[in-house]
Amino acid sequence: MTDPSAASRCPQSPPTTSAPPYTTAVTVEDFHRNLAAIRARIDAAAERAGRDAAEIRLLPVSKTVPEERLRTAFAAGITQMGENKVQEAQRKSENLADLGISWSVIGHLQTNKAKNVAAFADEFQALDSLHLAETLDRRLQANGRGLDVYVQVNSSGEPSKFGLEPADVAAFLAALPSYSSLRVRGLMTLAAHTDDAARVHDCFSVMRQLRDAALQAGTVGDGLLSMGMSGDFEAAIEGGSTCVRVGQAIFGARATPDSHYWPESPQTK
Ligand SMILES: *Cc1c(COP(=O)(O)O)cnc(C)c1O
Repeated sequence: MTDPSAASRCPQSPPTTSAPPYTTAVTVEDFHRNLAAIRARIDAAAERAGRDAAEIRLLPVSKTVPEERLRTAFAAGITQMGENKVQEAQRKSENLADLGISWSVIGHLQTNKAKNVAAFADEFQALDSLHLAETLDRRLQANGRGLDVYVQVNSSGEPSKFGLEPADVAAFLAALPSYSSLRVRGLMTLAAHTDDAARVHDCFSVMRQLRDAALQAGTVGDGLLSMGMSGDFEAAIEGGSTCVRVGQAIFGARATPDSHYWPESPQTK
């Protein structure tokens, strides 16, 4: 039944993922080159969208990258790093404490690990329950710290993706002022993982609408939008993103499949 010539007879069929070949950055020069390329693409996307590129933050995502290469990345000027898993983030923050890197936890957090985030993170981008907000707040108060947070929204409707349903965002934001150590900065999402540009675009526009409504209600602080990763950051910028979270296009391709981080990803990667 399998026809080995099928692929060559069908050259127009799209690849199952759109990932370009990400080259691994090893030296300071490699990091400079990758960063310059990303910044140029951010600038061009901002220009197309009639936006000021200065309002778009590039958050390098360092998950799976060993600490020695993070030292090189730091030497190349990377001073903030995003990590999906709290244990990995905390280990790196301890072993690289001499550098003074600013750590952002960008992945789903179980309540029993709230104390870890409260201890070392500078930012948490995946707030998705009031129980977690309450636990984080209690731990932060005990430590005399505050924490910048983004509320994660499931903008794609994919059932197992983390984050609030869009319909629940307004009430959730309205409840957050009770937790005074949490500084609500904005909303965060992962768009649908697909080559269908229209579906990706829809995710970003849902986010922008939610943000605009929350700004009207005065519940979302600065109204920042964290969205866009290596495969879709330009579309995210055109959709209003103020923070793109870019891993592979800076550090190089990851061996760990994305399904390790968000269970619904296609297993074909
Ligand atoms: C890994 C990760 C990213 C970055 O993905 P890349 O494909 O490496 O750019 C962005 N956001 C979250 C939540 C992640 O876990």
